[in-house]
Amino acid sequence: MALRFFNTYSRSIEEFHPLDPDGRAVKMYTCGPTVYSEAHIGNFRAYIFEDLLQRHLELRGFTVQRVMNLTDVDDKTIRGSRAANIPLAEFTAPFKEAFYQDLDTLQIKHADSFPAATEERFVQAMIAMIEKLIGRELAYQADDKSVYFRINRFPKYGHLAHFDLAELRSTGRVKSDEYDKEHVGDFALWKAWDEEDGAVWWESPWGRGRPGWHIECSAMATTLLGEQLDIHCGGVDNIFPHHEAEIAQSEGCSGKPFVRYWLHCAHLLVEGQKMSKSLGNFYTLRDVLAKGYRGREVRYALLRVHYRAPLNFTWEGMEEARQALARIDEWLRRLREAAGAENLPANRAVAIEDDKFAAALDDDLNISAALGHLFEQIRESNRELDGGIDAARALAWLQWWERINRVLALEAGAEKPSAEIARLAEERVHARLAKDWQKSDELRDALQARGWDVRDTKDGQLVTRRAGA
Ligand code: AMP
Ligand code: ZN
Repeated sequence: MALRFFNTYSRSIEEFHPLDPDGRAVKMYTCGPTVYSEAHIGNFRAYIFEDLLQRHLELRGFTVQRVMNLTDVDDKTIRGSRAANIPLAEFTAPFKEAFYQDLDTLQIKHADSFPAATEERFVQAMIAMIEKLIGRELAYQADDKSVYFRINRFPKYGHLAHFDLAELRSTGRVKSDEYDKEHVGDFALWKAWDEEDGAVWWESPWGRGRPGWHIECSAMATTLLGEQLDIHCGGVDNIFPHHEAEIAQSEGCSGKPFVRYWLHCAHLLVEGQKMSKSLGNFYTLRDVLAKGYRGREVRYALLRVHYRAPLNFTWEGMEEARQALARIDEWLRRLREAAGAENLPANRAVAIEDDKFAAALDDDLNISAALGHLFEQIRESNRELDGGIDAARALAWLQWWERINRVLALEAGAEKPSAEIARLAEERVHARLAKDWQKSDELRDALQARGWDVRDTKDGQLVTRRAGA
């Protein structure tokens, strides 16, 4: 069955087919954090949903190229650096580092690139896009010297958010700070420098200033992934104006549809309200770890509800996550004990042909149905264990779990391979594709010498940390 996702653009479930003529390569862009403080676990709900999506696509044989930006220049980062009296880059660096660490704690795969908005090549790409938009009369410089996107010239504006533009079409000027705009809904592409910006500015054809938040994502996405993407994600709060603006800017430049599938996750709530910095009702990952929970427990708690349903954060929910993982751990312990008695080669086990877990995810990432099936199978195999099962059957169950866990990434002690291990593993994949068996064996030896086991399964190469290594 084909994968199906709910596309915010059409507000309907659609079959997923990437642009790639071979139907394999997927280009995916996900809006990342603004690095003015540590991300909160509401943000991580969005990143875990995106991780689940990527891992499931990979399980289904797609190769995903994913970009996640870091917003390291905006009002909040500038305010923070001024309050701390240090340069912007120095202020944002520790938050970037904390973010990468949190991704690892939560077993979230790193994107292929994490472009930062302040990198010179991206600022230049933003400026180039704005020049193009001005050339097409889709943008204009106002009296305040800032450059704005002219939404009236882009008829599709409002389609993603399903907004009736008449609501936005206002002749009157609403706020005094919007006095210079032609239309109240026009959004800033380039913000002219003012005193509040301190030392943060770039030269541009419109004078000193800095980019608006929306153009950052359009420029980084199209520079790194090209003019057309397969998937673009974020939380529902990103739909308008951020993603609406990204479409207007990107399509205004390329003339081509920017994104095929828009996927947005519902919010993590606290007592019915969105968890957010501005409401002050948030927990960072470190807050939750400080209460004695592990990263995998937080991951499970944020993962277990369908991404389009709001999820209420509670400590009871954390306890339930802990219990669910304890059940999985105990089940795996029993299976390993049963399988380990004889050191069977993997090919002696008769594979368990049960694809229901992944099939549930094919259906717009129906994680509740997928987990429901996992726990049914745990009950079933525990019954088999009670009756005494042979080592080959236990091994077959372990292999079944390994496939599922590539998507869930919940196993205790799962460890992210270092860059060196990842490189050796990657080289071995290429050696095998080139049928260079000698090199492939040498690379296996090199990995084993470093404490990592390699197995070739029907789903590809599996590299795991050797127990006790
Ligand atoms: P921000 O740093 O506010 O731009 O948010 C980064 C990402 O987290 C965006 O994709 C937001 O949509 C998402 N996000 C923010 N708050 C929440 C929340 N409470 N629940 C789920 N996602 C959120
Ligand atoms: Zn964005």
